[in-house]
Amino acid sequence: MKKMMKALVKKEKKEGLWLEEVPVPKIGMNDVLIKIHKTAICGTDVHIWNWNEWAQRTISIPMTIGHEFVGVVAEKGSNVHDVDIGEIVSGEGHIVCGHCRNCLAGRRHLCNATSGVGVNRAGAFAEYLCMPVTNIWQADPNISSDILAIFDPFGNATHTALSFKVLGEDVLITGAGPIGLMAASIVKHAGARHVVITDVNPYRLKLAKKMGATVALNINDKLQIKDVQKELGMKEGFDVGLEMSGNGKAFKDMLANMSHGGKIALLGIPSKDLAINWDTVIFNMITIKGIYGREMYETWYMMQSMLQSGLDITPIITHHFHYSEFEQAFEVMNSGQSAKVIMNWVSNGD
Ligand code: NAD
Ligand code: ZN
Repeated sequence: MKKMMKALVKKEKKEGLWLEEVPVPKIGMNDVLIKIHKTAICGTDVHIWNWNEWAQRTISIPMTIGHEFVGVVAEKGSNVHDVDIGEIVSGEGHIVCGHCRNCLAGRRHLCNATSGVGVNRAGAFAEYLCMPVTNIWQADPNISSDILAIFDPFGNATHTALSFKVLGEDVLITGAGPIGLMAASIVKHAGARHVVITDVNPYRLKLAKKMGATVALNINDKLQIKDVQKELGMKEGFDVGLEMSGNGKAFKDMLANMSHGGKIALLGIPSKDLAINWDTVIFNMITIKGIYGREMYETWYMMQSMLQSGLDITPIITHHFHYSEFEQAFEVMNSGQSAKVIMNWVSNGD
């Protein structure tokens, strides 16, 4: 095993990332060392690149970033028995404490002391990543490495999209970013009737049609969500809402278009405090559920089984780069003319 490796590091408190030589992580008895094959760029990584307020508050430097990955097990700790060297794995980027009330009860996604890979501890934009064996996902090798590399955001989409029953229901998704787009495919696969998705970005709205949305609506156009309801013959509003833009106006539009008793799952993160009309929530008896991360590991199980039963999310991957081209990769991410951007960490492709 070599001692040093390449990694993308937040090295200075300003815009950008630095391609550095750093030590290969040392593993503990319950850890695995993963040789990274492919990674994908998350909006979080873009925030860290841009060094926005959240990143300034959250990231200690130097920090190897990145948390969306696929790779193979290269080394394992002495306590790790059920994993083989060479096995293909992705992994859960939220490392839970293991001893809070929720962790002890098996509700690990509700842990109140999670540590984030590539945010609070060394991440996956590197040749090797160390993580506890309890965080790896032993993947179905028939699933393509591109798709396995995006299991983390696919998991955000799945966790949100399957929060409420969607079979036969009409679903409104606000925000056709990578996660909203994947959610459109998921709810369609899970039997939703009409799936309406909104955005302001024509590139992404075009992709939404490929991902199975019934209607992809640019809210800057004349037609509004109410008009789309009419066109589709809907009478009482959407049964399920998935807020995936983080935009306050989008959330308010959603609230105004829900049926009585409608259910909303909130994944998008507003940049500041947000006032809504609580009368609508109360008198229309709306349920609102906040979503963070993925359920461990029910979401992972569902992702895999949906892919095995024919769900196709491949159009979501729009760009590939070698890790040495990271500057271009981040530029494409920042441009909005993209969905998922993959960086390859092995020279021979797969
Ligand atoms: P993204 O920023 O790529 O996508 C958001 C989309 O919303 C963009 O395409 C943008 O054009 C669109 N948008 C902006 N204003 C809008 C409006 N008024 N109406 C409709 N759409 C509008 O983000 P993503 O990676 O797809 O993630 C979606 C959201 O989820 C982000 O807010 C992100 O921060 C958040 N997120 C939350 C979690 C969690 O665990 N809760 C995890 C990952 C991401
Ligand atoms: Zn915990």
